[in-house]
Amino acid sequence: MGTKGIEILGGNVEEIKTLLEKAYADEWLAYYQYWLGAKVAKGPMREGVMAELNQHAADELRHAGMVADRIIQIGGTPALSPKKWYDLTNCGYDEPADPYVRVLLDQNIKGEQCAITTYKNILDVTKEKDFVTYNMVLQILQDEVEHEEDLQALLEDMDSMVCLLYTSDAADEEDS
Ligand code: FE
Ligand code: FE
Ligand code: MG
Repeated sequence: MGTKGIEILGGNVEEIKTLLEKAYADEWLAYYQYWLGAKVAKGPMREGVMAELNQHAADELRHAGMVADRIIQIGGTPALSPKKWYDLTNCGYDEPADPYVRVLLDQNIKGEQCAITTYKNILDVTKEKDFVTYNMVLQILQDEVEHEEDLQALLEDMDSMVCLLYTSDAADEEDS
């Protein structure tokens, strides 16, 4: 990183590096979880769920790129091997072993909630100290908040669909 760029960087650079290196591992694992989830998904509203999971996968990969660039800029090294992702991750990896859409959505909502906590913490650490990291993390956090909202909205839509089915079943029975 440029000398002036380093000079204005307040706060503990080593701590910020470590936090970003961990978040970088999270982004790759989240990317893969969404990407594979979209492939295996089964159940109601599958098309809509797949589209949303694929969109989120693309966002997580973009986040990984943003975080890697900043790590390198402040003199750190993004995990050089995928093996390291498991050592570094905050949020872990939930295998999409059960492809039922509801289970996938629940797993991914948990992941987003963890991502929100992770980035909120980095904002707290960089606030008024490292403006560039702060600004980048704020952009990512806005996406993660939207991701959680999108997934929870899909679950709600699913529930109201099931309600409708029950209601029409009941109506059919009354008719007969
Ligand atoms: Fe992300
Ligand atoms: Fe996300
Ligand atoms: Mg979305």
